[in-house]
Amino acid sequence: MISNPTTAVDKTPKNTKLTSNQALSPDPNLPAPGGSLRFKLRRLAPTLTGETMRIFIDGKYYDEKNAKISVFDHGLLYGDGVFEGIRAYHGRVFKLAEHIDRLFNSAHAILLKIPMTRAGIIRAVVECCRQNKIRDGYIRLVVTRGVGTLGLNPHKCKRPSVIIIAGKIQLYPPEFYQRGLDLVTVATARNLHSALNPAIKSLNYLNNIMAKIEALNSGCEEAIMLNSEGFVAECTGDNLFIVKAGQLLTPPLSAGALYGITRGVVMELARESGMAVGEPNLTRYDLFNADECFLTGTGAELIPVVKIDGRVIGSGKPGPATKKLVGQFRELTKVSGEPIYP
Ligand code: PMP
Repeated sequence: MISNPTTAVDKTPKNTKLTSNQALSPDPNLPAPGGSLRFKLRRLAPTLTGETMRIFIDGKYYDEKNAKISVFDHGLLYGDGVFEGIRAYHGRVFKLAEHIDRLFNSAHAILLKIPMTRAGIIRAVVECCRQNKIRDGYIRLVVTRGVGTLGLNPHKCKRPSVIIIAGKIQLYPPEFYQRGLDLVTVATARNLHSALNPAIKSLNYLNNIMAKIEALNSGCEEAIMLNSEGFVAECTGDNLFIVKAGQLLTPPLSAGALYGITRGVVMELARESGMAVGEPNLTRYDLFNADECFLTGTGAELIPVVKIDGRVIGSGKPGPATKKLVGQFRELTKVSGEPIYP
């Protein structure tokens, strides 16, 4: 399935110009757990000219075939590292400073010293977009602990690696943006703060992947994850919002939600248009009885939800507040961001 962002950057037919809606086609060769829809990624052009993708690793650019890291990198051996998924729209990198701040916060929380400055990474992300002729695309920024021994000890890893991939992504089949997603609440609880804090955007996504597998096994594209107290935390790769009696509500970070950049943008847009915004603890009951529901994420953008655990949400169609926020978000992406081609 396509929803794991790490699988989503693909390459290179000649002279193919893609819109974000062209990425998917039914794939009869993939298994269909629980009878779900079957999709695979079509091969995507990473650059508008169809040239080979150029990937940044520790200050140098490599073409895809030669972009490799060591099997002794603890990012691979232990999921020890941090990452960001970032979007570019209309020749600008959207909310780049916010993503870099979150990256540095995640790294600080796991005692990982990023071997570049904030300004240096910002320059490298923009340059990587330029190298790949990106105007609209998806950027994966990864910092791994680096090469070490086969033991856990991170102090044996002398130098973290910084990797930047600038390509494209399509998280959900395009028709779901029109008609809305069907979600399922899964048994896998979101990580405890005291175990692996969900605020850390680490390379260890097994908690989310286990939940994703449960969703796919139930024929759903995405899972709702609860925390250990039974409150709604988030989805496997997105934040969750409901609209109730004109208010926009989303779980607090303390419930186990990632501090989503898109989440922050949507809350600000809602406030600007006079909507009350709250972050209360939410239960499944609150979701079932919401007027509207939608998800936010850099990869997913804003996507409506129309059914949860078999319960129809609101009218069963994407609601007016959701549609308005989608429109406001699109407008903002036209004018905001770090210019790639100043
Ligand atoms: N929650 C999780 C677990 C995520 O991985 C993501 C990012 N894909 C989000 C929420 C949304 O965050 P953002 O809007 O910053 O992409």
